[in-house]
Amino acid sequence: MGIVIGLESTAHTLSIGGVKESGELIPSCSALFRPEEGGIHPREAADHHSENVSRIITQFLDINNIQKNNILSIAFSQGPGLGPCLRVGASVARALASELNVPLIGVNHCIAHIEIGRNQTGCTDPVLLYVSGGNTQVIARMGDKYRVIGETLDIGIGNMLDKFARAQGIPFPGGPEIEKLAERWVAKNPNASLIDVELPYGVQGMDLSFSGMLTAAQQLINDGKPLAQVCWSLQEHAFSSCIEVTERALAHLGKTEVLLGGGVACNLRIRQMSEIMCLERGASSHWPEKQYCIDNGTMIAELGRLARLSNEETVFSDSKINPLLRTDSTIVSWL
Ligand code: AMP
Ligand code: MG
Repeated sequence: MGIVIGLESTAHTLSIGGVKESGELIPSCSALFRPEEGGIHPREAADHHSENVSRIITQFLDINNIQKNNILSIAFSQGPGLGPCLRVGASVARALASELNVPLIGVNHCIAHIEIGRNQTGCTDPVLLYVSGGNTQVIARMGDKYRVIGETLDIGIGNMLDKFARAQGIPFPGGPEIEKLAERWVAKNPNASLIDVELPYGVQGMDLSFSGMLTAAQQLINDGKPLAQVCWSLQEHAFSSCIEVTERALAHLGKTEVLLGGGVACNLRIRQMSEIMCLERGASSHWPEKQYCIDNGTMIAELGRLARLSNEETVFSDSKINPLLRTDSTIVSWL
């Protein structure tokens, strides 16, 4: 059976995945760039991607026993993301497509998070809460586009968690460690109150904001509050802000499904909050398994497969990367 290959390289993750024509997913092989100190430097991440890409492609093809003549097309993340990182993926995708003489398909990374979720969970017309490192958006389909109903006005929720963690000496990615610390705090303090660790709330109309919350959380640490307690408070404030905007989007649009996506959707507390909110209003909450929440090549392949079904192809002259590509600038032709 024919296979669509997907290349992901928008930021810290280089990943190659695939999907069969039937829609059956083939898990990705990935390499994660972890800066020795500080945040992600785009050029260093891009160097990491070019150094690892041929190894990861070979590994992916070998593990899955994929013959080159079974490859139907090559999909890649065209944007949004860090320019130097995107460029590595795009160059490799062009080279593979021309070597194999198969079509190239440039796809929108944010929309790939939606489509892998729909593939995995079976939900049909969800409000997507997309919570990742660099992106935080509440998205829903209207007409032939996925529209952004609300989004962060400053930094992405994952970046906020990573920055807070980094200031406490916790390496990237900080989100999972913050989750562990918060869980421990709640286990030890089941009746804990947010009153003495209050933070600015992140809701701004239908939009979100996390930088004030980050500064205030750091201030609590400077004031001597226990790290685990502040982690717990940070999660409660950040996640409930996202869930509130998501609930309002459900109400305004009359939709009944929530789909979580992006790396922060690995977090059990945000999943729980989404589930409770949905239960209370007769909606349902969904999320893909962890390997498909974080950035991965399989989701790029899945969006490539859908685009291919509607005969989309990206000619080389249109295959330039677009670091600022918006979720709502892509026409959804496959639904
Ligand atoms: P992505 O950009 O979608 O690949 O996701 C990466 C982001 O997800 C990073 O900011 C991580 O800190 C965050 N992340 C991953 N796992 C968790 C978790 N369990 N809880 C909170 N954030 C997480
Ligand atoms: Mg992402």
